[in-house]
Amino acid sequence: MRDILNHPAFKMACDQFDGVADFLNIPETMRERVKMPKRLVTVSLPVRLDSGETKVFLGHRVQHHLTLGPTKGGLRYHPSVELGEVAALAMWMSWKCALADLPYGGAKGGVAVDPRKCSIGELERITRRLTSELIPFIGPQTDVMAPDMGTNEQTMAWIMDTYSHQIGHAAPSIVTGKPISIGGSLGRREATGRGVAFLVNRVADMLKLPNDCRIVVQGFGNVGSYAALGLAKYGARIVGVSDVSGGVYNPKGLDLNALQEHIARTGAVLNFRGGDPVSNEELLIQPCDVLIPAALDQVITEKNAGKIQCRVLAEAANGPTTVKADAVLRQRPEIFVIPDILCNSGGVIVSYFEWVQDLQSFFWAETEIFDKLYRILERALDTVLKEAKKHNIDHRTAALSLGIQKVVNGKTIRGLFP
Ligand code: NAD
Repeated sequence: MRDILNHPAFKMACDQFDGVADFLNIPETMRERVKMPKRLVTVSLPVRLDSGETKVFLGHRVQHHLTLGPTKGGLRYHPSVELGEVAALAMWMSWKCALADLPYGGAKGGVAVDPRKCSIGELERITRRLTSELIPFIGPQTDVMAPDMGTNEQTMAWIMDTYSHQIGHAAPSIVTGKPISIGGSLGRREATGRGVAFLVNRVADMLKLPNDCRIVVQGFGNVGSYAALGLAKYGARIVGVSDVSGGVYNPKGLDLNALQEHIARTGAVLNFRGGDPVSNEELLIQPCDVLIPAALDQVITEKNAGKIQCRVLAEAANGPTTVKADAVLRQRPEIFVIPDILCNSGGVIVSYFEWVQDLQSFFWAETEIFDKLYRILERALDTVLKEAKKHNIDHRTAALSLGIQKVVNGKTIRGLFP
């Protein structure tokens, strides 16, 4: 199985796990059980393109563990999607859900496709075919998908519709992050970004950073844009942002309204005139108080970890910091890391709220949702910081060990079947 998963991201997730397993003294017999994914599903998706040709795409879904409930995790459309990467993301989802005390195992899925090069019709056909191929493996009590990079509410609506047709009645709880009109939750769209903003604001207060502290955001998609807008509301200055097209930096602060208008008009950050153009690599090492990688994994590496100039590294993306970069960051105690499984957990927490609302057909007000979200995030932050202090370990090890321990406890008490 390891060969199939031969991908730097999976190796990184395993290395992280092994380090924490040593710290927690997890018995050897339990390590493989907790680490290796329960199910790996790869499906080929023959899809009719608008041109009339048929193209076969590859889709993956990995369910990491089913010990504490159904699996939960996003669906990603990106040209570089591979099984090993998806498996790593599924593992991180497990620790994330456990850290937030959600009754889920982790999952992740993806299709190797560039959604920007597809028409709406092609995306719909890819999504429906993927859902139909995955029907035996998904369900509200088995595996629940959500949006991730390159997918959105519309994607979730197509999944829900395809699944509902298959089982003969509307099944909103098969996905989260869907439109409100078909059972989506208020606040889900903004949840991850607003959660990032909430945690950054709490940490900025702790570190006594100025109110108008400078923020750099790599990736101005769903998470990055709501994090930036949320932090701007708290009074912070967004000095740099980027997307796949490139970035822009202005130490005085960017005009976010003008930036959003520019993106709505042109579809990209590129050529925004409110600051100096910078590449994605340069953006990460610009001076700022808070650096928020909110795009891809493995962007903070051993090459740039020594050069980043921030007080807080808020990991909004999944797996943005490599294990080698972590080693560099451990030598830089002036940088306060909010690890990904804590930092971006707002999304899965409100996804959980959406799933609960769908199962009960009883919907909550937005204030109730954000009140509950912030209470969970506050508690998770507090627990991680206490654990780090108690054992004199870094925040990532603390967060991972809390999540991993919970899964180990669940497997231990349930025992081994048969
Ligand atoms: P999105 O597709 O809405 O946005 C992604 C952004 O990253 C876009 O602006 C895109 O242009 C940019 N990008 C893509 N490739 C890039 C590159 N090479 N360099 C710089 N920018 C690049 O996706 P999203 O939902 O905002 O997800 C972003 C990250 O947050 C991912 O790592 C995802 O796994 C993680 N995440 C998302 C959620 C969620 O609720 N959406 C929850 C938890 C974690």
